Amino acid sequence: MREVLTAGRYFREKYGVGVYKIPISLLGFTCPNIDGTVAKGGCVFCENESFSPNLETKPPKKFYLSPKSISNPYLDFQLLQLETQYQKTKTKLQKKFGATKFIIYFQSYTNTYAPLETLKALYEKALSLEDVVGLSIGTRTDSIDEKILSYLSLLSQKNEIWVEYGIQSVFDETLSRINRGHDVESMKESIMLTCKHGLSVCAHLIFGLPNETQKMMLESVQFALDMGAKSIKIHPLYVVKRTALANDFNRGTFSPISQELYIDTVVKAIKLIPKDVIVQRVSAGIENDTLISPQWCFSKHQQMYQIRKALREESILY
Ligand code: SF4
Repeated sequence: MREVLTAGRYFREKYGVGVYKIPISLLGFTCPNIDGTVAKGGCVFCENESFSPNLETKPPKKFYLSPKSISNPYLDFQLLQLETQYQKTKTKLQKKFGATKFIIYFQSYTNTYAPLETLKALYEKALSLEDVVGLSIGTRTDSIDEKILSYLSLLSQKNEIWVEYGIQSVFDETLSRINRGHDVESMKESIMLTCKHGLSVCAHLIFGLPNETQKMMLESVQFALDMGAKSIKIHPLYVVKRTALANDFNRGTFSPISQELYIDTVVKAIKLIPKDVIVQRVSAGIENDTLISPQWCFSKHQQMYQIRKALREESILY
């Protein structure tokens, strides 16, 4: 039976204990695909608060950072917010799992889309927190540059540093259909540059994007591997309230992927992924009433049960 290199297995092997990711959402962060820099409205499926459960305070109107911001009057607040969110989730994980090591996951919006000085202050604060072994930074391939990558590369000499890129698809027609705001070519250059700096890339992919066939989804996986991604995250595209995709769904111009096709594609994708590439996620559940469709995306637990079962039938242990 082949074992998939899950994040759990990878970190246990490397650190001797489980390492838990703690998601952080900070006031003031946004995305060039939302603020009008590359596009407006964001990706069609994006309703960012739906995956920002930790963001207790909304930014005051007109306070949004970008790399061009000349000052950041909320830096102290952001640092406090970072520490508070970390301590709160850490305590829960300690009680529930006896967790002892953590990675801070800058998850919501685009976490390199701010002045470098702000990013440095936040990343260094995060790394200074007790029991933190590293950072995972969720961002877009159009929101990095040589300076950020060189800085992260320095940090990676003593810490676990992951750059998590939303790739989603490697087809320009799909990227344009979902209003992604960049094309495949630019994505390729940024991923290669990130790898050149010795940084570990985690590629996020979505199965079930509009008009995509299974062949296309698997090609996106192969592209991420060819570009040097050391980790892959896959999730199904679901429709949540207050998104452009919800309008498409209501108009009948978008139909979500079926559970059968999703699972079959995940199994085929896992067969493509080499043994030393970490599979961090193959499911996504949204257990609240913002989910419109498909209903099988409600429970992540159920999805994982079915995916594990399908993989076992192929002699693969997840
Ligand atoms: S890149 Fe991320 S944060 Fe920006 S619009 Fe797309 S999904 Fe939302």
